[in-house]
Amino acid sequence: MKPSLTAIKGTKDILPPETKLWQKAEWLCREVFEAYGYQEIRTPIIEPTELFVKGTGETTDIVTKEMYTFVDKGGRSITLRPEYTPSVVRAIIEHRLYLQASPLRFYYFGPMFRHDRPQKGRYRQFHQVDIEVFGETDPAIDAEIIEMADYLLDRLGVKNKKILVNSVGCSNCRPNYVTLLRAKAEEIKERLCKDCQRRLELNPLRLFDCKEPGCQAITQSLPKIIDYLCRDCLTHFENVRQWLDFYGLSYQIEPRLVRGLDYYTRTTFEIISLELGAQNALLGGGRYDHLMKIYGGPDICGLGFALGLERVLSVAQIKPDKEKLIYFVYLGEKAKKKSLQLCRELRRQGFTTLLEYKDRSLKAQLSRANKLAATWTIILGEDELNQGICQLKEMTSGQQKTVPFDQVGTILRTLEKDEKNK
Ligand code: AMP
Repeated sequence: MKPSLTAIKGTKDILPPETKLWQKAEWLCREVFEAYGYQEIRTPIIEPTELFVKGTGETTDIVTKEMYTFVDKGGRSITLRPEYTPSVVRAIIEHRLYLQASPLRFYYFGPMFRHDRPQKGRYRQFHQVDIEVFGETDPAIDAEIIEMADYLLDRLGVKNKKILVNSVGCSNCRPNYVTLLRAKAEEIKERLCKDCQRRLELNPLRLFDCKEPGCQAITQSLPKIIDYLCRDCLTHFENVRQWLDFYGLSYQIEPRLVRGLDYYTRTTFEIISLELGAQNALLGGGRYDHLMKIYGGPDICGLGFALGLERVLSVAQIKPDKEKLIYFVYLGEKAKKKSLQLCRELRRQGFTTLLEYKDRSLKAQLSRANKLAATWTIILGEDELNQGICQLKEMTSGQQKTVPFDQVGTILRTLEKDEKNK
């Protein structure tokens, strides 16, 4: 039967056992970020629309076409966040976190929302893992976050990846370049798509964000920002490259990498998968030296990256940790009560136990334990109950032993240890 209500186009349910993979990936991200001194931050999913218009940029695809915006009951314009950085900047200013010792290092997990055309690897609700650093100007930090991103992808078992880097200059050198770019792009305007013709008027740098293969080919011949950097930006870029070399990371300079947002200055980067099609960017980020100031905060530079969990999980070679389930098989009301009591004690000792309430035969319960791939079953009937014991059965070998009630936890712990040392 076809259900009449289904998930909204471009969104999807993440179901067990796939959720185990998500948990594992999130746990690995957390472990890596904390090893590099990052702290978790959590901000609301809904924000004032103005936050993104101001920071993400009025001429970006995200703001012009992709935001989920609505007016709430108080008449305020609210947006489901399409990206994370503006929220962090808002929180830093609102709570004056900039008064803490810098640099500030934060990480975050959560859903983002963009009303884009859904396709493989592109959703309307997707999940990002973000990191942000504020208050560090040294180009070594640009390289450090790229190194951390690359290491994280290694930990996630991502093979065949490539690091792309670029510099998009600063307020010193970019305006001259944009003037030149506009003049050159005017010459090929007729061949560009409607969106690009509009981009050309508003912000020619956004031409490089176009997803149309036709436009991508045509704009290849346009001048590249990397050839027009001022001395300071060039020095910064050279330093970032030296630090990448120091880490022994191989990378490619990609002069078209302008990253779809208005606030980037100097370094931009992406790590792409060579195993994916059109939507191959696993993560992307860069430096934003003036974003805090744009929001009326202090002049503190920032940088960071966002990783798309859906895309990364589609190429990650990780396996969920195998869980050890203890399944209770009981016969009769009294045995059920004792099983529940044992279950409760074992859960408090950190074991995963399961007991079901249906009154079923021994055979049916054992076959359920098999289906659930239980490591052990604990069998309790009237005889066992009278003797204060239970039968502990190892499911793969079929070996069974008698265990007094008060020793169940200790024996399971020993068995678990033995298994780990195998
Ligand atoms: P961005 O915020 O656009 O720089 O994106 C950072 C990362 O988020 C990308 O490299 C992707 O992995 C992921 N991502 C961005 N947009 C989508 C989307 N619509 N669906 C799935 N993942 C996305």
